[in-house]
This record gives sequence, structure tokens and C-alpha cells, in this order.
Amino acid sequence: MTREMIPAAKPLIGEEEVAAVTAVLRSGMVAQGPQVAAFEEEFTAQMTPGAESVAVNSGTSALHLGLLAAGIGAGDEVIVPSFTFAATGNSVAITGGTPVFADIDLEHFCLDPKSVEASITERTKAIMPVHLYGHPAPMKELVEIAKKHDLMIFEDAAQAHGASLDGQKVGTFGAFAAFSFYPTKNMTAGEGGMITTTDADVARNARLLRNQGMERRYANELVGLNNRMTDIHAAIGREQLKKVGAWTKQRQENAKFLSENLEGVVVPYVAPGAEHVYHQYTIRVIDTDRDRFMEALRDEYQIGSGVYYPIPNHRLPSLAPYAPGLDLPVTEEAAKTVVSLPVHPSLTQEDLDRIVEAVNALAKAGA
Ligand SMILES: *Cc1c(COP(=O)(O)O)cnc(C)c1O
Repeated sequence: MTREMIPAAKPLIGEEEVAAVTAVLRSGMVAQGPQVAAFEEEFTAQMTPGAESVAVNSGTSALHLGLLAAGIGAGDEVIVPSFTFAATGNSVAITGGTPVFADIDLEHFCLDPKSVEASITERTKAIMPVHLYGHPAPMKELVEIAKKHDLMIFEDAAQAHGASLDGQKVGTFGAFAAFSFYPTKNMTAGEGGMITTTDADVARNARLLRNQGMERRYANELVGLNNRMTDIHAAIGREQLKKVGAWTKQRQENAKFLSENLEGVVVPYVAPGAEHVYHQYTIRVIDTDRDRFMEALRDEYQIGSGVYYPIPNHRLPSLAPYAPGLDLPVTEEAAKTVVSLPVHPSLTQEDLDRIVEAVNALAKAGA
């Protein structure tokens, strides 16, 4: 019997998306227009009630323009995790500011408030937590630290569409948040990003920055870029928005089954009051050789898995110059031991059973 590979991630694009894109193409108006405006409104209503949404062409652009719109530039320090996708630190560095890497908590993999507080200097302007894997960062503590030291909060919510803490949605905790619509994220627009903010000035600045600094054509108010989203991408995003709620429930059910049945590995922690949206279902393997564990998952059980992220940002050749001599022991421990298993909404019960059988057998054998 040959078994089909269970992929680590699987974007779901249906006939509704195909029809919506076709309609935009047939309309002859494909650049930023009414689809983008509608996507922004619908995203706000569903994901970040009370905030305003500004669509851009990627999650990285959302971080970059959000930082610029909030006034971050040369000489400013922004505290970020090192255990994240490089876009987090890159976006700070590309403004001319300095990413300052703090350590994480090994339970939820997000910023550790103690390490954040110890990283504050006279130049610190903001704290930018990442809601890693779809689990909200400890916002209560981080917002308190920000208030105490007069800092801004920015959220990297690229992996966390719909996640919340004590009933408050991520994307509404700070000066701005950035979401991503890259195909492997919980919802996609092909490529794309969203800035959400409750600050009218940040929203206006972001709208100007994405469009050469113009509100009125050829009356450029500030130096900007072209980071606009197209109506083609927005049309995909609007259809995905209708489906992402059910997909998230399915991810949560899949995660629940895995957490109840996996043995010999550390299953994901969910903080009290947290709604985890499981962009990734990330376990830690401790007394097991991780490379062999993943190889065996693939070769013996036909199960895809991934490591997010094997090299902490503060040790990447690109970002290491910002962190000379920095040691982040918890980040290192996470980078060595994490494995993300499939949790996407297309998994069948047989897939889930096969994942449990494989992980339990390999963990017991020490892989
Ligand atoms: C995906 C991701 C980004 C960047 O989003 P893109 O749409 O790929 O530019 C930023 N931060 C994190 C944590 C991400 O996972």
C-alpha cells in the first residue's frame, strides 16, 4: 500500500475565489479599487472590531509601513523576539531603526515580559510582540510594561487571524498590528497584508505611504512607496474571509485531538484566556533526535513537518550585526527542539490517527 503524503500545510482555494478573480479581471479594473475597500471593511468587522484596516501588498509591507506611520526611524529601538520569521526584525531595520532582540517564554514561544523589560534603554520606542504560531503573546504584561515606560505596542499578527486574549482580538492592543495573507497563513489573498489600527493618524499615514504619499493624485504630501494591494488579491481575500472562521474551528479541533493523544512529546500550551488559532501546531521533542524524528515521519509514515524557526534571527548573517554578543538561551532551546506537525483543516480522521501513531511510536523509540 502506498500512502499519500500528508503535507505540512495546504492552502485551500475554491471555485468561489476563482469566480471572484475572474469577475475582477473581466471588469477591466484590476489595481487598488472597490474590492480593496470592501476587503478592508469586512476584515475590520470580522477580525479587529473597532480598529481601521489598511490593505497592502504583503505582511512585511504591513509591518514596514505601520512602523513608518507610527514614526519609527533612525536611532529608535524596537524590542522584538528573535524566535520568529525574519520579517519582524527586518521591518524595523529597514526603517533605519534598531531591532533589539528579547528572549521568549518556552511555554507559548512568544516574548517573555521579564526579558523585554530588561532590554529597555533610553532609545526604546516600542515593543513588537509576535503572536507566534497563532497563540497570543502575553499582552496584559506587555501593555503594562509599555505604559510604565511610555512605549508604543506594535503587534506582528501575521500568524494569528482571529486569535484573542481575554476576549480581546489580536490586532487591537497597540498603535498598529500587521497581518499576512501569504498562502500558508490561516487565510490568503495570494500575497497581501493588512495594517489594523485604532489611531486615525497612523491609518492616514499608512494610506499615504502605500500610495507614493498621495491622497489626491499628484499632490504628494510625504515620501512614500507603492505597496498597494490589487483588487485581484482583495477579491481572493474577501472569499477567504467567509471561510476562515470554519477553518480555524477545524484547526482547533485537530489540535485538541492531537494534544489529547500525543505521548512522549511536549504539546502546545494554551494560556488562560487565550484563543489559539493554530497557524502551526508546534510540539517539542526532547529526548529524541529531531532530524531523525522528522526524517522518519516523512519516510516511514509519509507525514510532512517543519521547523519554524531553526536559526534565531539574532544569529542570521543579516540581523546578527544588531545583536553583538547577545545570548538568548530560551530562544536557542526552542530553535533546537520545536517541530510543527500538520494541523490544517483538510486533515481527515485517518490522517490524524496516522500522525498520533507515528509521533508516539517515534517518541517512545527515541526516533
Ligand atoms: C509571514 C510572516 C510575516 C511576513 O508576511 P509576508 O506576507 O510573507 O510578507 C511577518 N511576520 C511573521 C511572524 C510571519 O509569519
